[in-house]
Amino acid sequence: HAAPVVEALQPDDVRALLPRPGPDAQKYTRGVVGVRAGSGTYPGAALLAVAGATSGLVGMVRYVGPDAVADTVRTAHPEVVGAGRVQAWVVGPGGGDDGAQMLAEARADDVPLVVDADALRHVDGPLPGCVLTPHAGELSAMLDVERTEVEAAPLRFVREAAGRWDCVVLLKGHHTLVADPRGRVRVTTTGVPWLATAGAGDVLSGLVGSLLAAGLDSYDAASVGSWLHGAAATQASGGGPLTAGRVAVQIPRLLRELLAGL
Ligand code: AMP
Ligand code: MG
Repeated sequence: HAAPVVEALQPDDVRALLPRPGPDAQKYTRGVVGVRAGSGTYPGAALLAVAGATSGLVGMVRYVGPDAVADTVRTAHPEVVGAGRVQAWVVGPGGGDDGAQMLAEARADDVPLVVDADALRHVDGPLPGCVLTPHAGELSAMLDVERTEVEAAPLRFVREAAGRWDCVVLLKGHHTLVADPRGRVRVTTTGVPWLATAGAGDVLSGLVGSLLAAGLDSYDAASVGSWLHGAAATQASGGGPLTAGRVAVQIPRLLRELLAGL
């Protein structure tokens, strides 16, 4: 059994994979992403996941969650609409005790999911076409191993998880690993340690969801999303501290540079 080859996407790879609207584009054909996130305890996670999803790569973003959170989301993001058909769901950020219900409701639609945070511990079987986005602590809980074991052998455990749940697993950390069930792995090194800040993962889940809804397959959506998230963070940081909201705001600026071929 040959050792796995781990790829690193380059800017030209990312540019080639970016969705872009054709002349006949309509908002629905560009893709609609839905976000099921946030709770009374964690309203901010909903805002940040929606911010990651509204970077302009899809035609529409929907939000489904508690009324009070939905009001806050619509105040901050007036372009966001309510329940309806989507091409991908993002489930879990800040879900708290609602994580199981969020996952069950999203699974009722036969579309790919990004499963993060409080929905991860409710994954109980294969999720083909989907993306799981755990950090080492979340993955260790899912696999019932010690966190230190995952941190000592992230490549082994991310591949094991991708096989076990028959989907793409994005293991977040200093270097993020994206594995698919066939054993392929991509590594993201575009980020910066300042990205280790509350809410950063919520932005990532929204961004990956928007790429799924725009038509990228789960492996490309996860690895391109991770690459963009890290690169946007590095640009926004400029060597200094970051907040998650600033990473989200940087994504369209980064996309502009990439699309211009800079
Ligand atoms: P979360 O743990 O869900 O808040 O997500 C944290 C985000 O920050 C992920 O995108 C991680 O890849 C990223 N991150 C965490 N620690 C580091 C680090 N030391 N260097 C670069 N990125 C990091
Ligand atoms: Mg998180």
